[in-house]
Amino acid sequence: MSEKKKKMTNAFGAPIGDDQNSLTAGKRGPVLMQDVHVLEKLGHFDRERIPERVVHAKGAGAGGYFEVTADVTKYTKANFLSEVGKRTEVFARFSTVGGEKGSADAERDPRGFAVKFYTEEGNYDFVGNNTPVFFIRDPLKFPDFIHTQKRHPATNCKDADMFWDFLSLTPESTHQVKILFSDRGTPATYRNMNGYSSHTYKWYNEGGEAFWVKYHFKTDQGIKNLTRQEAAEMRAKDPDHATRDLYDAIERGDYPSWTLEMQIMSVEAAEKYRFDVFDVTKVWPHGDYPPMKVGKLVLNRNPENYFAEVEQAAFAPSTLVPGISLSPDKMLQARLFSYHDTHIHRLGPNYHLIPVNSPKNAPETSYQRDGFMRTDANGGGGPNYWPNSFGGPAPDIAAKEPPFEVAGGADRHPYTHPNDDFVQPGNLYRDVMTDEDRAHLVGNIVDHLSGAQKRIQLRQAALFYKADEEYGSRVAEGLGLDVSEVENLAGMTKEEREWATSQ
Ligand code: NDP
Repeated sequence: MSEKKKKMTNAFGAPIGDDQNSLTAGKRGPVLMQDVHVLEKLGHFDRERIPERVVHAKGAGAGGYFEVTADVTKYTKANFLSEVGKRTEVFARFSTVGGEKGSADAERDPRGFAVKFYTEEGNYDFVGNNTPVFFIRDPLKFPDFIHTQKRHPATNCKDADMFWDFLSLTPESTHQVKILFSDRGTPATYRNMNGYSSHTYKWYNEGGEAFWVKYHFKTDQGIKNLTRQEAAEMRAKDPDHATRDLYDAIERGDYPSWTLEMQIMSVEAAEKYRFDVFDVTKVWPHGDYPPMKVGKLVLNRNPENYFAEVEQAAFAPSTLVPGISLSPDKMLQARLFSYHDTHIHRLGPNYHLIPVNSPKNAPETSYQRDGFMRTDANGGGGPNYWPNSFGGPAPDIAAKEPPFEVAGGADRHPYTHPNDDFVQPGNLYRDVMTDEDRAHLVGNIVDHLSGAQKRIQLRQAALFYKADEEYGSRVAEGLGLDVSEVENLAGMTKEEREWATSQ
């Protein structure tokens, strides 16, 4: 570093003579308005905070790469997936959802799992969670749902009544509630959890053939969770434990990695499938669509500056590249609006110019101009409109998504598949969980739900009962409820119960 660089300057590069004593009128007099250094310094400090993300506010991030390990060119023409061995630079961010920027990493919460791929055809953002499903499947419910996971309007405290009131009136949440209240709701670290797209996306190949796909980033460190008691201890001991763990692991060269596995379904098969493949409260059972290994994600670079990279990293499911597109999943459709909209609000309309967000391997050549913080050459003297005959950048027909069919009348349609909200959570309880998993699940629920009013407890236990009689009964017993009252409230016929367990 040159001697000149080591000198302290103001924001505009002029040297500073004294940074310890403000300019005053006399030894004990007031500070003079003409101390422009103190004015500039305080003025900047007053504006250090940018709006906190409404969800996913607390996070940790790192850079690395993604390497392709299998030929997927028959499913997608995405350039970064075009060759076995091809590597693409990435930046990943993990987060909790409901807590504020200062909240504890060990809270029970889904975890965000976002990866930005700096591809040669522009950035591609994967914006998933550590759970394969979600609480709701219609975006109209999202703001209400998030309100209930945050603070009570009067007390400004978390509130078990509002938390469970909403969920117990939202039967489609039963699957995700089960995963959240299993020990997977408190992952040991960000390195010990999977990342799922949750939504179904579309891939299409060079020939224009489309497939429905789901992404599974499986941790190579193994799944490791905290029990309820361990999580409580961790929150008290080190509220930043997962942030610290990720940073320290990379610093000591113990680079975390994930294996990307894809579930791929033909468009024809989706028409006849027994679950609605666009319903984000459902998984595709592995037995039907075994995940295939596609690549490896490795994180090997810590950010040099947290705010510059992690806080300003802006991921959006609408940030796509040719070969990857969307499904009609209503939650996904709404996220296409909300993420970009949030970034414009938090970071400004030119957030794509912030280094962590800029398409470093495919520089922008658009006709978008001006706006706050346009920090590049703004297109220089070139044309700022299309079409033009002055050699400006032109659209490339090869980048166009193949046409797709839509059908039906416009209405506020509910999902039309059978009422199967209880089948998959039931299967998870009966077929996948161990005795220990089940005991922890019930204990975790009882611990939290016991803070809610009895009528809410009854309604929620009835939803668990619909997923599995034993599950609902154990929760009811743990809460001291009358199991027959829960059974009545569940109101399932013998046939309905048999159907649910046969799927
Ligand atoms: P499988 O037995 O083939 O798969 C079950 C999967 O469940 C496992 O592969 C694992 O997913 C995940 N799992 C294991 N333990 C737990 C746990 N304690 N809490 C949450 N998830 C766990 O069965 P299916 O594919 O038929 O699915 C059965 C049920 O498993 C589903 O209804 C769903 O609730 C759950 N599940 C299914 C997933 C899927 O994509 N099919 C993904 C995750 C859960 P992983 O390998 O991803 O860790």
